[in-house]
Amino acid sequence: MVLNCRHVWDRISEYIDGSLSPEVRADVEHHLETCEICSAVLDSTRNVIILMADDRVFELPVDFSRRLHARLALAIAEEAPEQPADG
Ligand SMILES: [Zn+2]
Repeated sequence: MVLNCRHVWDRISEYIDGSLSPEVRADVEHHLETCEICSAVLDSTRNVIILMADDRVFELPVDFSRRLHARLALAIAEEAPEQPADG
């Protein structure tokens, strides 16, 4: 079976898990050898999985929430200046 890119993307997590049947796995490998797009997708999918599997927690700066809200309030004020009330 000749796979197109969409087929490979649908199977990429199973490919990484090693849960594909040998026949399908061979088809996916053949496609990956010949398709730069899919090998790039495979690389980035692996990277994401490595990041998610990593126990590190990315802590936000202590002040992050307060600054975010201040920033949002400012953006809202700029986007929607107070309208004169009707009546
Ligand atoms: Zn492809």
